[in-house]
Amino acid sequence: ADGARVPALVIGSGYGGSVAALRLAQAGVDVQLVEMGMAWDTPGADGKIFANTTSPDQRSFWLRTRTKQPLSNFLGFPIDKDIPRYTGILDAEEFGGIVVYQGRGVGGGSLVNGGMAVTPKRENFGAILPTVDPGEMYDTYYPRANAGLGVGLVDPAWFDSADCYQYARVGRKQAQRSGFPFVFVPDVYDWAYMQQEQAGTVPRSALAGEILYGNNYGKKSLQKTYLPRIAATGRVTVSPLHRVTTVTPASGGGYTVVVEQLDTSGAVTATKSVTADKVFFAAGSVGTSKLLVKLKATGALPNLGDEVGKGWGDNGNVMCGRANHIWDPTGSLQSSIPCGGIDNWAAGGAFAEVAPLPTGIETWASFYLSITKNPNRAQFSWNPATRSVDLNWQPAWKQPSIDMAKSIFDRINAKEGTIYRTDLFGTYKIWGDHLTYHPLGGAVLGKATDNYGRLAGYQGLYAIDGSLIPGNTSVNPFVTITALAERNIEKIIATDF
Ligand code: FAD
Repeated sequence: ADGARVPALVIGSGYGGSVAALRLAQAGVDVQLVEMGMAWDTPGADGKIFANTTSPDQRSFWLRTRTKQPLSNFLGFPIDKDIPRYTGILDAEEFGGIVVYQGRGVGGGSLVNGGMAVTPKRENFGAILPTVDPGEMYDTYYPRANAGLGVGLVDPAWFDSADCYQYARVGRKQAQRSGFPFVFVPDVYDWAYMQQEQAGTVPRSALAGEILYGNNYGKKSLQKTYLPRIAATGRVTVSPLHRVTTVTPASGGGYTVVVEQLDTSGAVTATKSVTADKVFFAAGSVGTSKLLVKLKATGALPNLGDEVGKGWGDNGNVMCGRANHIWDPTGSLQSSIPCGGIDNWAAGGAFAEVAPLPTGIETWASFYLSITKNPNRAQFSWNPATRSVDLNWQPAWKQPSIDMAKSIFDRINAKEGTIYRTDLFGTYKIWGDHLTYHPLGGAVLGKATDNYGRLAGYQGLYAIDGSLIPGNTSVNPFVTITALAERNIEKIIATDF
């Protein structure tokens, strides 16, 4: 409520925000959790909470009047369409050189992502978070995150027989024929439920192509894991459709946080002011970076360090498709939940998910999202003319990612006698190199903050989300974001409260 005073305020309800809210509440601290997206707890006109990937509607996109689908074309034809402007679930945020996809709503990115829950190989950890002790992460915090998130693995025997993973079996066969290791990748999907979907005994979710705009049944998003535990504490007030705009030191100590209430058209219906003893920035890599850069530049928090806004990377994301021979169909029924990948990290700098193309028809296409060791890092900066935050990522900075992905797919194409698809991202365009699903950095651990996320320059301000991670995790990022948040909040509760 306007004028309230709270011990702790958390900005954003994704992985970092959920971990912070749960652990603070369990330690007896009352928490205000502020989330600019919707609650996603009410069915729409079709009786479902979330829209299907094959038929996007107003629920699908954050304040856009036209869809911006990651795969913009099919068989060369553009597939985007007009939709009503609405506080929908997926934000396709456009900066000058890159489109950054993010989840919007209570649960953040967990609402829209593929649920691939990957702990990095321990030998890669030193390059991911160089100032963090790997022993405590691999002994304590990765296991805690995996348990809290409900991570599990597909049953390999079922995988071998399920129609919905034919595309992944083709991916495995071709990877292995070219000498690449194929690895099963854990996911937060309820695998027993997916087996029932395949058997036709329950409503389909992964097997109905649900993913980018939410998943109605089987996926264990934060709505099924951390968020019910948060509610059970009775100490956390969640405010959906509330957006934090300013944080500034309050005269009597603590911080004044200005929050705008939104309606579902995105219009501001009220502006409220709350005083918080401690504020946790968990608005995601982009959201936290944008807030911190603005607050430093506009004088609200002038003492934030010069590292704020720096060290941002795209986790080396790049997509591509391959056209298979007629004798290698990938299946008309494809689970939207990926469960395997090709690991060429050590030799070629790429880890490629074998991804679905759930169109409902046979396409003979193999589709991949590669995570690569792209060394380029961008910076957020305040633009006084537009009064907004820019990101200086350049389209050409994706070239190292393309080269690394080619270390896998050029070889597979040569071995199989196949070619790249050129109809998925435009006409005659092979690489999906205009986007990322995995923004990381902007308030890097040990640079913009101390080694536990305490922001330099102010007591009682913390970053606790993907902004802490310097640009790359070598695999999909949310398990690392969750584990790091678990580590940091434990220390912060023990020493700062
Ligand atoms: P987020 O989860 O982004 O949460 C931040 C929250 O803060 C959001 O809910 C946002 O609405 C809110 N917010 C932002 N600004 C404000 C503000 N000013 N006021 C109030 N609230 C605000 N990762 C994986 O590991 N595996 C996958 O399979 C995978 N697939 C993905 C697929 C897609 C399509 C996308 C988009 C992402 C995928 N990711 C995946 C990435 C993963 O979802 C993110 O890395 C993760 O969600 C980031 O967690 P976070 O806590 O940093 O922030």
